[in-house]
Amino acid sequence: LLEVKNIEKSFEKGNPVVNDVSFSVGENEIFALLGPSGCGKTTTLRMISGFERSDKGSIALEGKEISSNSVHVSPQKRGIGFVFQDYALFPHMSALDNVAFGLTSLPKFKRKVFAEEVLCRTGMGDYKHRSPAELSGGQQQRVALARAIAPEPKLVLLDEPFSNLDAMLRESTRKEVRSIIKKAGMSAILVTHDQEEALSFADRIAVMNDGKIEQIGTPEEVYYKPKTKFVAQFLGRTN
Ligand code: ATP
Repeated sequence: LLEVKNIEKSFEKGNPVVNDVSFSVGENEIFALLGPSGCGKTTTLRMISGFERSDKGSIALEGKEISSNSVHVSPQKRGIGFVFQDYALFPHMSALDNVAFGLTSLPKFKRKVFAEEVLCRTGMGDYKHRSPAELSGGQQQRVALARAIAPEPKLVLLDEPFSNLDAMLRESTRKEVRSIIKKAGMSAILVTHDQEEALSFADRIAVMNDGKIEQIGTPEEVYYKPKTKFVAQFLGRTN
């Protein structure tokens, strides 16, 4: 579905924060970028969404180039859904309207019904009439998740989407979101620094360090067969 080839990004000359990163994401696959704070995960995601241009390399979605030296498809035209780290909900709209807003492929009378269904699945059904200012950080995060996955884009980008939830809520929200993505046939890229989250949510994981990918593999592979010392240490397996 998504092919990322040799992308690079420097904000200062000679100091790349993303350095020759390549990976692919399959149909209906959940892929995680896992690594410590500042290793370049968000920047990688921003190049895929189109909010940042890469200095080198190319990105193709469904076989069509969306980013390269000569091509830059705008974020709105990529058909990708995303959850930002700071949620970016529309402040003047209720939770329900935030989710219904993007459902342009449905007839109008169905939009709110479907939006409510997705809000219920992320545990936010009872808060549908509240505006973002009337919601806690964790509640806003769940509305942002519902908004990103409700239109069922081919690919959804999730930047630390569970970070503001307590352990119990995190587990249940994760399960619901995973099931919605899988059932709808979507693919997703999760950015996280939490190894347990990547191991339980993703089908495949790319472990990043200092702008580079150290290893790509299934949760079992990166956990039981770490290829580098960094991967072993980051996943808490030093033996
Ligand atoms: P975190 O989990 O803390 O968000 P991350 O792995 O997502 O970390 P990035 O946000 O991609 O990391 O940042 C990688 C590096 O690039 C950091 O050192 C950051 O300071 C730097 N950086 C990111 N955006 C910019 C920018 N617009 N201008 C300058 N430097 C930037």
